[in-house]
Amino acid sequence: MWHLTSSGGLPSTVPPAQREPPLSCDLLVVGAGPAGAAAAAHARLRAPGLATWLVDQQAFPRDKACGDGVGPGVVARLVTLGAGHIVAGRRPIERVTIVGPSGATAGGDLPPVGGNRPVGYVVPRVDFDAALFHHACRLGAISYAGWRMTSLDTSMPGHVQVRLARAGEALSVRARAVIAADGVRSTIRRCLGVPYNRPRHTGLAIRAYVTAPAPVFQDLEFPFLAPLLPGYGWVFPLDATHANVGVMLDASRYRHSPASLEVLLAQFLRAHAARHGAPLDLHGRKAYMLSFGSQLPRLAHGRVALIGDAGSQVNPFTGEGIAYALAAAMLAVDSLRTTGIDAPRPFAAYERAFRARFERHFRASQFAKRLARSRRFADWAIRAAARSPVLVAKSTELLMGEGTTVSPRSLLTVLTHGWRWPAAGGSSRPSVVRASNGGVPWIPRPRRRRATEAS
Ligand SMILES: Cc1cc2nc3c(=O)[nH]c(=O)nc-3n(C[C@H](O)[C@H](O)[C@H](O)COP(=O)(O)OP(=O)(O)OC[C@H]3O[C@@H](n4cnc5c(N)ncnc54)[C@H](O)[C@@H]3O)c2cc1C
Repeated sequence: MWHLTSSGGLPSTVPPAQREPPLSCDLLVVGAGPAGAAAAAHARLRAPGLATWLVDQQAFPRDKACGDGVGPGVVARLVTLGAGHIVAGRRPIERVTIVGPSGATAGGDLPPVGGNRPVGYVVPRVDFDAALFHHACRLGAISYAGWRMTSLDTSMPGHVQVRLARAGEALSVRARAVIAADGVRSTIRRCLGVPYNRPRHTGLAIRAYVTAPAPVFQDLEFPFLAPLLPGYGWVFPLDATHANVGVMLDASRYRHSPASLEVLLAQFLRAHAARHGAPLDLHGRKAYMLSFGSQLPRLAHGRVALIGDAGSQVNPFTGEGIAYALAAAMLAVDSLRTTGIDAPRPFAAYERAFRARFERHFRASQFAKRLARSRRFADWAIRAAARSPVLVAKSTELLMGEGTTVSPRSLLTVLTHGWRWPAAGGSSRPSVVRASNGGVPWIPRPRRRRATEAS
């Protein structure tokens, strides 16, 4: 016998009497993280005639390893999805601080995306994802939370056959189109024969929540520390005394690191405490992978589209993924609407639109990341940014906006402005300070490497 799962505590929009599921649906969205929930919500808003099912192997709320950084690109898309309430009442953040390996600091405003006020938030994913999931359900998406998608058959014309399972039960669903939003280790991607990203296009990151004894957290802070380059650490404030902190580095670099992710995080926190003079109380460590957009796979596969982490739609430099996941979700649904769900390749327009919008952006971010592999370049760039508001704006555009170039002019600014330390206590927009100890201290690497936790 088949059962619809509850939508994680909230009433489904479908009354119990009508809850016998049909054998088929129009649009099956697999994975109800930001990408899948946004796709289901957008489908309900823009194509309400399509019966849309939203499947996730977990029930909501569920946690996800993340920096919880919600940039301007996410905010703009939440508003379009009618989900602005997810950030309403949260503490807005307008500034970014970048710290170089030698302790130089440059600050600037967040970049505008979609013409909105450039503002970001830090929202724990356990809350963010549950809120977006419930939003999609309230709009009429049918929840299959708690069901795992186990296999997919694309060999039949006109539909895709998908199998779902949970604790001893199985379900076979015919869908006219499938959106795969099932994350970095996407089962659908594997079923389609699309290889996962290679190690140098894969990131590893660990996050934790910290409490400081006194107010120290203000901006979104990105310390670029030598042992992580071109990866970095982050301090994303929930409020003045609570923050999400973490470190990210390439899997190919991590292979050769003698320190585990936990050790790298501990070292990072000690460096932070030395800079701010406040030891941090830590809990909730969680690590996971990221698949970077520097190895973007084919996204449209007949009646199946890969979106979000399943489609490697993550900024290769910053690891930011939510903004691209929401953009892809909306473009995929728009493609269904404009091409027609019964067309042989209903997601072809999605593939074209996503590449047109983000491929150059990912390439430019990857180029900047290559440059940042050099500690000297990273220091010069941050010192130059401290002197040049234009360079700060260009950098944040690349890191957290949709910038598409690293211009020769920017590189020239790095060379001409970055070679010497600015005077301490210079102007604050952009600002530069030299850490009192002459730079961020880095603790020697441990001799033995400890096991890495998984998410
Ligand atoms: C440590 C870390 C820090 C990060 N920090 C940031 C940040 O600050 N800001 C930012 O924008 N991005 C950040 N990212 C990236 C961001 O987390 C991802 O890009 C984002 O989660 C992508 O959303 P998604 O919906 O594609 O995938 P996910 O959020 O991973 O959701 C996938 C969903 O699919 C479900 N699923 C998987 N397999 C199946 C299956 N077989 N059947 C049914 N359901 C399935 C899972 O349960 C999950 O709910 C970070 C990533 C990491 C690892």
